[in-house]
Amino acid sequence: MARDDKKSPPDTSPRKPAPKPAPKRATAPAEPGRKAKPAGNKAAAGKTAAREATPAAPEMVKRRRAVANAAAALAGRDIAPWTPAEVAEAFSRFEAADPEPKGELDYVDPFTLLVAVVLSAQATDVGVNKAARTLFAAAPTPEAMVALGEEGVAGHIRTLGLYRGKARNVVELSRRLVAEFGGAVPADRAILETLPGVGRKTANVVLNIAFGLPTIAVDTHLFRVANRTGLSAGKNPLEVELGLERMIPNRFKLHAHHWLILHGRYVCKARAPECWRCLIADLCRWPSKTAAPAA
Ligand code: SF4
Repeated sequence: MARDDKKSPPDTSPRKPAPKPAPKRATAPAEPGRKAKPAGNKAAAGKTAAREATPAAPEMVKRRRAVANAAAALAGRDIAPWTPAEVAEAFSRFEAADPEPKGELDYVDPFTLLVAVVLSAQATDVGVNKAARTLFAAAPTPEAMVALGEEGVAGHIRTLGLYRGKARNVVELSRRLVAEFGGAVPADRAILETLPGVGRKTANVVLNIAFGLPTIAVDTHLFRVANRTGLSAGKNPLEVELGLERMIPNRFKLHAHHWLILHGRYVCKARAPECWRCLIADLCRWPSKTAAPAA
């Protein structure tokens, strides 16, 4: 989707560019996925009652029950909440497996990180990195980005979806940084969210990676993992974020969103989670765990 992340809430440690400075990396925040509708309004209850009044084949009953269980897990209903000990155990395992999780977006400083994350909406990290390489070479600072102008920026990023809107946002946010903040990226979520193309998710990524704050950026992967596992069920990214903030021990918070995003991207995949190789499978509340494929 080529929307900016203000329109859709959702998606991390750095590398320096060398000899041509090795770029730092951050995980691109992807858009949050669709979530299950909460069940339980009157109309739904009436339909359920009507269905239940009709005898159903055992297979159909089984299927309905499986769907209901999955929906309950997605909505965080009727599942045992994680205990503090379980949460600590899960993040201890993530930490042991990947003590310093790295993202996949290239950047060199807070400004280029901010721009890269803005460009990453509806785009792959690989695509963003490729486009951003020439863009950052031409305009590594807000001042240079303003001088390059919208058409100039668009020329570097036209391989990305919604590149015209992104070019407009990048130039305007650069202009604001120069005019209001002396060209620096403010370490303040509320201010960041006033910049064009920047929503809470992007602000959280920048605060976490560029400034080392323990923020949790909820992208589509993290949203899915939190709901599936029952770790922090929520109807929207903000609910999930606030739930995770409450339950994750402080010592894990800095890397928590990287671990969960990467877990969602590479293991707890959207269509077919690879539960058989999941390091938190015994803790996860998802009722439909997948078995290992036949050899
Ligand atoms: S057990 Fe499966 S559903 Fe649960 S977190 Fe692991 S991969 Fe995801």
